[in-house]
Order: sequence, then C-alpha cells, then structure tokens
Amino acid sequence: VSAAGGTGGAGGARFWCERAWLPGGVADAVLVGAAPDGVLTSVRPGVPAPVGVHRLTGLTLPGFANAHSHAFHRALRGRTHDGGGTFWTWREAMYRLAGRLDPDSYHRLARLVYAEMVLAGYVAVAEFHYLHHAPGGARYADPNAMGQALLAAAADAGIRITLLDVCYLRGGLDACGYRPLAGPALRFGDGDAERWLDRLARLDAEVPAGGRLPAARVGAAVHSVRAVPADALPAVAGGTTGRPLHVHLSEQPAENEACLAVHGRTPTALLHDAGLLRPGTTAVHATHLTGADVRLLGGTGTGACFCPSTEADLADGIGPARELADAGSPLSLGSDQHAVVDPFAELRGLEYGERLRTGRRGRFAPGELLAAATERSHRALGDPDGGRIAVGAPCDLVAVRTDGVRTAGARPGQLPLVAGAPDVHTVVVGGAVRVQQGRHRVLGDPGPRLARELRQVWS
Ligand SMILES: [Zn+2]
Repeated sequence: VSAAGGTGGAGGARFWCERAWLPGGVADAVLVGAAPDGVLTSVRPGVPAPVGVHRLTGLTLPGFANAHSHAFHRALRGRTHDGGGTFWTWREAMYRLAGRLDPDSYHRLARLVYAEMVLAGYVAVAEFHYLHHAPGGARYADPNAMGQALLAAAADAGIRITLLDVCYLRGGLDACGYRPLAGPALRFGDGDAERWLDRLARLDAEVPAGGRLPAARVGAAVHSVRAVPADALPAVAGGTTGRPLHVHLSEQPAENEACLAVHGRTPTALLHDAGLLRPGTTAVHATHLTGADVRLLGGTGTGACFCPSTEADLADGIGPARELADAGSPLSLGSDQHAVVDPFAELRGLEYGERLRTGRRGRFAPGELLAAATERSHRALGDPDGGRIAVGAPCDLVAVRTDGVRTAGARPGQLPLVAGAPDVHTVVVGGAVRVQQGRHRVLGDPGPRLARELRQVWS
C-alpha cells in the first residue's frame, strides 16, 4: 500500500489536526508534514487549514504501540471467560489452540488481528512469538516460516512489527526442577540456546533493513524462567546484546515459588545474575515482585510492560506499577492475549489497578498514562523516536472523535481516560493513511473474515 491519503507534494504527506497532543501539551490547528520515508519534518501549531490538505477532526494523539502480543491468542476471545479455572487451566486451552495453526492459517488469522489493532490506534506491535515449528517439533523447510507469516500479516495490515523471537526450551519449572517440553509445546522449542540463536541469526538475514523507519525489526525474548533453564540464560544474554529483549516475569506466584525452591532466588534475581536486566530489556507483567526485585529492575533501567486487561482476565494480580516507575523502570503496555484490543482500556487499566491496590486516585497523570501507551511502548519495541508528534518522530497519528457518546464534554487533557477504540476514526502509520472513517483501507471491516477464520480454526 502506498502512502495514499497524505496530500502533500513531492512525495511527502501533510495533515492538519483540529487539535493535537504535542510533547508540550494539547495545541489547536496543528499542521504536520512528513518526508517520503514517513518521518515528521514539520509540526506547526496555530496554522489555518490549507486547502486540499487531509484534515483530522477531533483530537489527534501520537500512534500507540502494543508492547506485548501473542496474535494467535485472539482465537481464545470469548471462549475462556466462563467456568472459572486459573491461569494454568487457561493455558491448557491455549495449548490446544497452538496445535491447530500452520504458516498459511496463521498468516490469515494474524493479518485480521493486526487489522483490529490498527483500527484501535496501534501503529506498531511487539509480537512475542514462540509458535516456531510444526506440531511435534519438526522444522518447516524455512525454520522461520511461522515468523515470516507474522511479518507478512503485519505488512498486510499496515502495522510496524518488532518480531520478538522467543527462546523456549523447557516445559515448566516446579520444585523438582525443569520439565521437558511435551505435547503441543514441542512446537515452541529449538533444543538449546545455540540452535535458537542460529535460527535468530537466519531471521536477521531474512528481514531487510528498513532505513529510518523499518516496517519490521527482529528482537528476542526469553519465554520465562520456567521455559529457559538457568544455565542457558547467560548465552541468551550474550547473544542478544543491542536488541529489544522481552521476558515474561513473575506473572504467577507459582513461578516465584518454584524458582525460589530450585535456585534460592526470585526470577528477577535469576535474570539479573545472568546479565539479562539492562536497558533494552522489558519484563512483561512484573506482577509478583519483592522490594528487592523492584530495585533491581529499576536500577538496571529494565522496562516493565503491564497488560492490564489480560492480567485482570487471568486473575494474575496487580503489579507494583508506581513503585517500578519511581525506581527507574520505563512502563509500557500491551494487550497480550487480546481478550480486549483497545489501548485506552490498557492505559486506564494501569491507573485503575493502582487505585484498587492503594485506595488512592491519580497515581499516574493522564500524560504519564498516554506516554506509557505511546512513547514508552515504542521504546520497548526498539524504536527510540516513536510515540510523539514531533520533528524526527514517525508520522503516526491517531485521530479520536471528541463529539462521540464517550468523549463529548471531556477536557482534551483527560480524553485518554474516557475514550475507547471505537472513537478512533483515522489512523496514519508512517505518513500513510491506514484507517479512514473507522474503516481499514485495505481490509475494511475485518470482523466477517475473522469470524470465518475462527470457525475454521475451531472446526
Ligand atoms: Zn504473554
């Protein structure tokens, strides 16, 4: 898809925003211009709308980044929320699903999942990808065929992707030690850290470098201290310097208990001892932490990604978000299992969790919440410039209705706390209009296709 919709000359794009959320505050009548590579070259408030320029009504926000996604979990939406159970029984349902996808069907599903994200205002996604091999663990002819399916899906939907290729070597950790991979999880494994690093290097070679605003980046992940044994962690740390590296951390108390029983340390301390806590690392969930864990994460500049809708749905608990931020951890946000795809719900969930946990309001200012969902999340994806409407940043614009039933009457500075994904009417990704009048320009309304795809997945 070309950069259609921007009406600027010389291959660039120009947009006029009725109101825009700029780094210095909300401003009126903002004219922005982007170079052909999709990077903003001018941001000028107080300019009357020029004739013929693309007008964005309402309030224009910077593009959101989804810092934690498992695209295939979308197939579980509306199918696991009854009947109780725990995180672990939910995981059994997820494993059954994992056995049903191949590169073609995963491509068809993921493009629609990513289209839903773009419709909601996400312009970039960190895909935490561990569905690597064929059922049983056999390699596809291209051992990165499933990752390639995700990259193609993101390109179809017009969302930038950081493909976090996950190291996943064991089937779990309990007081007796690590369990081998088994059953549906055999697809996740590469055997050992060296073979995983070899596949990662091959993926690097397959993904073209993308200039100033790459459509795809390759990052890495440690599934968790449950799935990567302690003696493999230093090799992972050494082989991934300079890349975004994500890790599920202390989502459930059982992970902490097993880690303490086997290693005499918390998962956070174990990762720290292996050299994995550093700027560029993002700890996903970070729910059940000790005070020492918080100091280790903050002191090393390790980020923390909260997924409030998923953490609530799976009864994970509420992590110490304010303490982490105060200790020095940049906070980002993700939709994880996609029971909900709505960046506004996640940023509100971050603050609501704090209020429920502490009995106090206003733990994060609206600007801090928006920064977590935008700037900080882009940084977690390996993009230091994204998430701001400023010269040098990607031209990512999310225009939100201010006259909808949810948003009418809201002060612009508080709008992120009341808006929802359905209020997003236009989404510009890297200077290209992807959503207009609430419709995806390429994939239209992905709902009916998603329904067909999910019928096939579960048939
Ligand atoms: Zn996850």
